[in-house]
Amino acid sequence: MTPAPSASGSVPVLSTSDVASTFPSLPPPAPPFDGLVGQPLVARFFTSAVQRRLTTHAYLFVGPVGTGKTMAARALAQALVCRSMGCGACDDCIRVARGTHPDVRSIEPEGAGGYLSEQVRDLVHDTALAPIRAQHKVYVITRADLLGGAPANAFLKTLEEPPLRVTFILLARTRESVLETILSRCQVVAFRFIPETEAVSLLMERSRATLKDARVALATTGGSVYRAQDFLGSSARRNARIKVLETLERLPLADGLDVLDAARDLLISLKQPLDELRVEQERQLVEGKDYLGKGAMTALEQRHKRALTGREREALGEVLGAMRSWLRDCLLARVGREEDIVNHDFHYHILKVAEGSDEAAFVRAIAAVDEAERRIPYNVSVQSILEALLFTLRDELGVTG
Ligand SMILES: [Zn+2]
Repeated sequence: MTPAPSASGSVPVLSTSDVASTFPSLPPPAPPFDGLVGQPLVARFFTSAVQRRLTTHAYLFVGPVGTGKTMAARALAQALVCRSMGCGACDDCIRVARGTHPDVRSIEPEGAGGYLSEQVRDLVHDTALAPIRAQHKVYVITRADLLGGAPANAFLKTLEEPPLRVTFILLARTRESVLETILSRCQVVAFRFIPETEAVSLLMERSRATLKDARVALATTGGSVYRAQDFLGSSARRNARIKVLETLERLPLADGLDVLDAARDLLISLKQPLDELRVEQERQLVEGKDYLGKGAMTALEQRHKRALTGREREALGEVLGAMRSWLRDCLLARVGREEDIVNHDFHYHILKVAEGSDEAAFVRAIAAVDEAERRIPYNVSVQSILEALLFTLRDELGVTG
């Protein structure tokens, strides 16, 4: 184990420049880190740390959306709970990948404004319990920027000195957004921004998609190569995007009732991809009955419920991504940059909509989508977000009166 970074001193940050000098003879990434897209230094750093058994007890992964922080957290969790340091193929590794390993927990803020004290109390209590399947426990704390106030204070002692064989992985978009007291207790690992052209070629390489389809998938999923790859592999999600764009196309002429109907239809198509997850969860419940006690079954059911809510919000994020990309195309068409249109399958309709509205309206419409996205983590119902947004977009793009 490496010594914990001191609370007062400078925080060690893994960056492009010091990886090469600190680890001059880094091995090429081994499973499970060889699947990290566009982050070769992070992959090699963790390969080395795991092979030398030099992992520490608290990491903070920082980097923009879509840079692979979640995937890296999963890979590190596999390396820590698997008997073969993350083979990717054993039962433990598969469970981590599916999000069903009992010793690897992902925690999301449950309060309107962030983490709750009660959540942190549960977490701290849980760290003291022995692992169920593996020799190690891993906690992935998403949105570490929303860990503040009393809940953060309740967590500091455990974060600094967790029980043996417990690892925390905190995720945040920037280091500045995380409390200094949290930051100073973690080893910070910086994920590099992946430029769009690089993301497109990585995605084409991994999914064999055409250039045009790769650009659509990335625009819809917010630039994440992983999510874009999943999107291309899911017909339900691709259909949801088409439904969204067809709705936008009709929106300028819609009356109030049409808008409500459109929101309802979108909600249905947004929920369809969730069926894939439900089938998987039912399979796990059947399998769990054989060896899980009553308490563990209840915990599993609760985890499933949270996963469904999380997936629903992710699906809404994708709907908003599709809308933003389409509106951006309309704006590009409006200012004469037709050749930059991403949603090639809607090219003709985009030109038509662009003709009927002005630049400022598209800019305001994009801002409305951004605003809707900001409301996602705040426990607002998906339906009300969609309805409010569609009304705003109709008014911006529509034929008024
Ligand atoms: Zn394994």
